Amino acid sequence: MANNEEFETTASLENTDLDELAVQVKGFLEIQDRKYGFPAKLFERCFVGSEAVRQFVENGIAADEEDAVRIGNMMLSAGLFHHVEYAHAFKNDFLFYRFASDVDHGKSAKKPDGSSVSWADFMSPLTMDRDGEKTISLQPVIPDRDPDLGEFAQVDLEAIGVKPLDAHNSKLLDHVHPKEWLDPEPKDNYNLVVIGAGSGGLVSAAGAAGVGARVALIESHLLGGDCLNVGCVPSKALIKCAKMAASVRNAEKYGVKINGDVTVDFGAVMERMRRLRANIAPHDSAERFSKQMGIDVFIGRGKFTGHNTVEVNGKTLRFSKAVIATGGTAAIPPIPGLAEAPYLTNASVFNLTELPARLGVIGAGPIGLELAQAFHRFGSEVTVFSRSGEILPREDPEAAKIVVQSLLRDGLNLQLHSKFKRVESSNGQGPVTIILEGDEDGDELRFEFDALLMATGRKPSVKGIGLENAGVDFDQRLGVKVNEKLQTANPNIYAVGDVATPYQFTHMADFMARLVIRNALFYGRDKVSSLLIPWATYTDPEVAHVGLYEKDLRDRKIEFETFKRDFSKVDRAIVDEETEGFVKVHVKKATDQILGATIVGNHAGDMISEITVAMQNNMGLGKLASVIHPYPTAAEAIRQCGDEYNKTRLTTTVKKIFSRLMDLQR
Ligand SMILES: Cc1cc2nc3c(=O)[nH]c(=O)nc-3n(C[C@H](O)[C@H](O)[C@H](O)COP(=O)(O)OP(=O)(O)OC[C@H]3O[C@@H](n4cnc5c(N)ncnc54)[C@H](O)[C@@H]3O)c2cc1C
Repeated sequence: MANNEEFETTASLENTDLDELAVQVKGFLEIQDRKYGFPAKLFERCFVGSEAVRQFVENGIAADEEDAVRIGNMMLSAGLFHHVEYAHAFKNDFLFYRFASDVDHGKSAKKPDGSSVSWADFMSPLTMDRDGEKTISLQPVIPDRDPDLGEFAQVDLEAIGVKPLDAHNSKLLDHVHPKEWLDPEPKDNYNLVVIGAGSGGLVSAAGAAGVGARVALIESHLLGGDCLNVGCVPSKALIKCAKMAASVRNAEKYGVKINGDVTVDFGAVMERMRRLRANIAPHDSAERFSKQMGIDVFIGRGKFTGHNTVEVNGKTLRFSKAVIATGGTAAIPPIPGLAEAPYLTNASVFNLTELPARLGVIGAGPIGLELAQAFHRFGSEVTVFSRSGEILPREDPEAAKIVVQSLLRDGLNLQLHSKFKRVESSNGQGPVTIILEGDEDGDELRFEFDALLMATGRKPSVKGIGLENAGVDFDQRLGVKVNEKLQTANPNIYAVGDVATPYQFTHMADFMARLVIRNALFYGRDKVSSLLIPWATYTDPEVAHVGLYEKDLRDRKIEFETFKRDFSKVDRAIVDEETEGFVKVHVKKATDQILGATIVGNHAGDMISEITVAMQNNMGLGKLASVIHPYPTAAEAIRQCGDEYNKTRLTTTVKKIFSRLMDLQR
C-alpha cells in the first residue's frame, strides 16, 4: 500500500471532466495581455483569479466563491493553468494565471530572485540537510544476500492466486485486478511508462501524472503489489489479532480475570484480514489510477522490446522515460525434496483458512519471525529454523537477543545452525518432514509439520521483462543495476523498489519513486545514498532502527559515543509492565550529531520517527533533551538519552565553576 494520496489531483472531478471544463471556461474568461507592477511588466495571455471566481459562479460552474476556488485549485493541481510567475495556489485575488495550453515556449515562471521556478522547488527535500556540511551516507550495510540466491527458485504469485473467493477477496480483486479490464488504446508517446504496480510503481505513476505527465502503468497480477496483497497489510492485520490474544492471555497479571479458556478462531482472524485488505484496496485500484488520475492502466505482462518501447497484451507503448518497479518474490533454496513438498510462502500463507497445528518456518528474518510469532499465538506449535546462529541478522545484536528471549518465553522452538539435509512429504501432500544433519557423528534430526512456511529471502523479478532488449544491466541476485540517481544502464530507464535495492520496504520503494520523478522528469540530481531510511520489525517487542549500526561505525572508523536508556527505568514502561527493551542512540564523538539509533519495545516502530525527524533536520541529541515530552510516555526514553548526553558536557572544570558559584550564592 503506497502513500500516493498527496499526488491525487482531483477529489470529486475526474481529469477528463477537468479538461472539458478548461475548454468551457476558456470560452468566457477574459484572456489577454496584462500589465502589472512598477515599472509595468507585461504578462501575456493571462486571466485574473478574482474575475475567474466571479465568472465560475455567474456561469453556474460553482455554487459560490468558496466552491469556485476549490474547483480552480483542482484545475491548477491538474496542471491546466498556473500562476504567471510564482507557485501560487489559485486564489480569489488580483493574481494573474495562464492556461498551460497558452504558455509561450521558452518562457518559464520566475522566483522573486529572478531564477526559474522548477518543480523540484515544490517538492519537499527528500534528502538530509546538513547546513552545507558534506553529508555522509547514514545507510547501514545490509547483510549480503545469500551468495546462491541467483540459483534459488522463484515463486509464481499468479499461479497461486487469491483464495478463498469470498465476498472480501472478490471485492479486493474487483479493485486490483478487475475482471475483463479493457486496456486503453496506447497514446502516441508517453512521458513515463511504469512496469509493475506495487508501492514503487504506483507512486511513480501517481507522482508523474500529478505533475501533468502522460503516464502508462502496467501490472501483470495485482495492483498494490506485495504490500497490499501478500505483505505488509495482511501480515499486520494478523499481528494485531496475535497481540490481542497474547494480551488477553496475559490479562491476569493486570488483575483482569478471564473465566474460561482463551481460544483463537483462526477462520475469523483470516476473514477480518481479508475484509480490511479489501477495504484498503480502493486506494490502489485500477479504477482510481485510470479514472481519477488519468493514467492509462494496462493489465498484462510488460516487456521491453527496444530502448524506448514496451509491449503489453500485444500493444506497443513508446516512452520518453520508463520505470522498472517489478519488485521481487519469495526465493526458495534448493533443499532436496522441497520442490515436491507443499510449502507455503508469503504468496500463499494469507490464503489459509485453517490453522496448521504444527508449523515449521524456515528463515529467521523479519517476515519469518513476524509470522512465526503470530501463528504461535494463534495456537500453532511453531519451530523456526535458521541456517546461521542469528535471528534478525541485520539488527543490533542486543536488540535481536531481546526478541529471541521473548520468542522463547512465548514457547516457540528455535533451531539455529540448521544444516538442511532434505524435506520429505508424501505425493506433494502434508505432513512435511524436515531432516537436519545431526552434530558430528550424531543422528539426523527429524521434525514433522502440518505446514511449512518458507521465508528464506526474496529474489528480484528480472526475468521475462526484456531487460536485454532495452540495454538494462541486471543480476539474478542483486536485481536491476542502478546508479545514484536510480538510472539503469539505459539512462532513460530507471528502477525503484525491491527490484533495485537491498532496503526492501514499502516506504523505501515509495521514496525511490519520488526521487525518480524528480530526477527523470525535472532533471533533479537527488542521490539514493542520501535518503535516511528508518525501518521496523513488528515482532513483540518491536525492533526499529534508523541510520548506522555500531558495526557500521566501527567498519567506517567513525568515532562515536552511545547513549542508552532501558525501559526498565522509564515510568510509563514500569506502570505498563512493559520494561523489556531500550532506546540506544549513537552520536559522533565530541558532538551531539546522531548517526544511528535502535529502539526495542512495544511501540518502537512509531517512536523511531522522532529520532528520524531529528536526524533529517540536523537536530542533535542535546537538543532532543530540551523537547518537552508528555509524562508518562515511552518516548521520554529518547529525551532521557538526550539528558545523558548533556551530562557529559559538564566537564570537571565546568562542574568546579558551578560549585564555586553555588558557594557564593549560599
Ligand atoms: C510478508 C511481508 C511483510 C512485509 N511487511 C512490510 C512492512 O511491514 N513494512 C514495509 O515497509 N515493508 C514490508 N514488506 C516489504 C514490502 O512489501 C516491499 O518492500 C514492497 O512491496 C516493495 O514494493 P515494490 O513496488 O518494489 O514491489 P512489489 O510490491 O513486489 O510490486 C511489484 C509489482 O510488479 C508486478 N510485476 C512484476 N513483473 C511484471 C511485469 N513484467 N509486468 C507487469 N507487472 C509486473 C508484480 O505483479 C507486482 O505487483 C513486507 C513484505 C512481505 C512479503
